Amino acid sequence: MIINMMEGATEAELQHVIDSVIACGYQPHVIRGTERTIVAAVGSGGNRTQLEALKVAPGVEDAIPIAHPFKLVSRQVRREPSVMEVAGVKIGGEEIVIIAGPCSVESREQTVTTAIGVKNAGARMLRGGAYKPRTSPYDFQGLGVEALKILAEARSLTGLPVVTEVMSTEDVDLIAEYADVLQVGARNMQNFALLRRLAKAERPILLKRGPSATVKEWLLAAEYLLSGGNSQVILCERGIKTFDTDMRNTFDLAAVALAKELSHLPVIADPSHGTGRRSLITAVSKAAIAVGADGLMVEVHPCPERALSDGPQSLDINGFAAMVRSLSEPLRRISSAEVGASA
Ligand code: PEP
Ligand code: MN
Repeated sequence: MIINMMEGATEAELQHVIDSVIACGYQPHVIRGTERTIVAAVGSGGNRTQLEALKVAPGVEDAIPIAHPFKLVSRQVRREPSVMEVAGVKIGGEEIVIIAGPCSVESREQTVTTAIGVKNAGARMLRGGAYKPRTSPYDFQGLGVEALKILAEARSLTGLPVVTEVMSTEDVDLIAEYADVLQVGARNMQNFALLRRLAKAERPILLKRGPSATVKEWLLAAEYLLSGGNSQVILCERGIKTFDTDMRNTFDLAAVALAKELSHLPVIADPSHGTGRRSLITAVSKAAIAVGADGLMVEVHPCPERALSDGPQSLDINGFAAMVRSLSEPLRRISSAEVGASA
């Protein structure tokens, strides 16, 4: 933290700041300029909140944090990328992992057909909502336990590990019996009671970014999980709210790159919720991989026009297979002057 003293701050005010920095558990370094004085508070493990409160101490102009507020998720603590292993599938390593499946589990047939289809097309994990966070209470809310049983059956038929959302602390144990990865949905990113409970769960967590959350808030939500004891965390960018009305959300590509830069945790991209438009999923998936995403989560339905949730952003099985094939196509060539060509 850098504490800028006001021009004309008295020696007594400066001494008060120095004493307070020490009382907060940091070492004060005083830099005297010609017009004003700066106190740098150095160290870790002190009382940061109390230090920040020095903003309003007499003679202080401002207190500016220089370090990130998150620690365990940060690259400063761990330089190497973390690789999460889920039933033999590695996320965050060399290869891009694709998670696919319906927005909601609607029936055994719909889920099993999708699971087999996406596996044959190259997916390494199955997604499917059993407990659905719906904006309207009148919309389909998910099949609950019945859906968990269907997902478990689809896993045993295909070998694909299962990702499903948990919305409430009460459901954690039950869902963990059936699922390999527990998803925290965008609307729950800052449900701190849920995060604290999931920090004690023995399952990896897929943490979606809230639609109005900054990257810092997203990483602090992940910090709840790590600091509470669960280091198995996968971040998921799924689009944020902006002024655009033609897309459901605006997929924040740079946030994928920034989260990778600031954190060692794997980051995956959800182009389905990130755009709300089936036609954009392939393009946004390619872009996400280009900026460093470790994987994708894509909604797939055997018949999107009959889906009970998120049909317009779901690919059908053939569409998904075509998308996966196209991800291996090389990027377009960069135009360059031929070597040795005459001017
Ligand atoms: C979902 O994955 O189906 C979902 C509800 O996602 P989000 O929390 O990103 O809206
Ligand atoms: Mn959905």
